[in-house]
Amino acid sequence: MKSGKRNRRFRRIGVALTAWLMVGAGFAHGEDVSLIYAGTLLAVPGEAPLTQQTIIIENDRIRGVRAGYMNAEAVLGPDDHLAAIYDLKDQWVLPGLIDGHVHLTSENNPQGRLQTVQLSDPDRAILAAFYAQKTLMAGFTSVRDVGARGGDAIFALRDGINRGYVPGPRIFAAGSTISITGGHADGTQGYRDDIAEVLHSSGVCNGADDCRKAVREQVRRGADQIKITATGGVLSNTAAGLGKQFSDEELAAIIDAAHAMGRKVTAHAHGVDGINAALKAGIDSIEHGTYLDRASIRLFKRTGAYLVPTILAGVTVTEWANDPNSFLTPPQRAKAKIVGPRMLEMARLAHEGGVKIAFGTDSGVSAHGDNAREFGLLVEAGMTPMEAIKAATVDGADNLGQSANLGTIEVGKKADIVAVKENPLQNIDALLSVSFVMKDGTMFKQE
Ligand SMILES: [Zn+2]
Repeated sequence: MKSGKRNRRFRRIGVALTAWLMVGAGFAHGEDVSLIYAGTLLAVPGEAPLTQQTIIIENDRIRGVRAGYMNAEAVLGPDDHLAAIYDLKDQWVLPGLIDGHVHLTSENNPQGRLQTVQLSDPDRAILAAFYAQKTLMAGFTSVRDVGARGGDAIFALRDGINRGYVPGPRIFAAGSTISITGGHADGTQGYRDDIAEVLHSSGVCNGADDCRKAVREQVRRGADQIKITATGGVLSNTAAGLGKQFSDEELAAIIDAAHAMGRKVTAHAHGVDGINAALKAGIDSIEHGTYLDRASIRLFKRTGAYLVPTILAGVTVTEWANDPNSFLTPPQRAKAKIVGPRMLEMARLAHEGGVKIAFGTDSGVSAHGDNAREFGLLVEAGMTPMEAIKAATVDGADNLGQSANLGTIEVGKKADIVAVKENPLQNIDALLSVSFVMKDGTMFKQE
């Protein structure tokens, strides 16, 4: 009773103090304004670069972009406060990069299967914070996390980053992946029954009604979008092939339930039966797309769905499959040998066919922070460097439904800005060494 009263009194004092400080801050500072002098600016990747530009940043958003290097006095209003000037006159400046396919709460390693039963959810959250920081420092200011272990760890990390408690990219989280029992994202394969029961995921469902519920359950938990495994996959410990796993009825129910609650749905899919079934059911994007064919390409173009090719994942599992000492289990190795080498050719086919491509790496299969390796692979698959950059900015934002906030350096957008010291349009691997990172108007890296 006594301590309750005391707490209430402290709370009242706290509220009064906060209000006073906020009013005080308003009078003293006006808006925080920063300037970036950009030698070469890819404000809207896909359009011609501009030279010698000033980017004006107000708090967390872009107030404007002006030709020439403007003096602070010329652009600041009477109440504005100059927070910083960043001199990137000798650099190539572009929008913050967007990776549409990561798994921040894990990274494949020989201890992975043991860690599944050893790491607590808080362990996963701390691990994910470590990987998130690496990702941000590599220039990726937004990511879509498409399936996370560790309970609510990914949501806690997303919210903590948004509040500024820990550094990391803006996260769009799917929560648990929707999968059939024994399917690719039912992570219990190969564990004894009582352990499997403990590891059971809220994303595992069977039948249309159950799958609607699994989708709604992810939305209830805080999911920004829904991820499903439409087909088998390489790194699940089961010899269940790479073909279609959900029935057409289940696919329709999942997509309907997600769209009704304003969530996009993306599908992990290797086998062409699963790719085409998901596209016909109205899926918003396909991850991997390994065995897509001409009919898939027609469906992609008809529905406007994005493909996220994740070639880096293919390259990574191929390396493991060819290493006799790697930690892959026999079913994993057999599938990796088939899928890995196929992905570069698949991306070439899709690009030539005019499929919309968004950048994604499947980091967590490959190492977090190596995300930019995908750029070189996209160029190997036939994209120009500009197209590859557009896939990770303009198109990456569109794939997330975030074009109003992300993907370009234009008035009103979030101030997510990166820079490199070499021309990425001549050497795409320049993006492997990002020298400047700003997210939400806050500078995290300057070299
Ligand atoms: Zn993945």
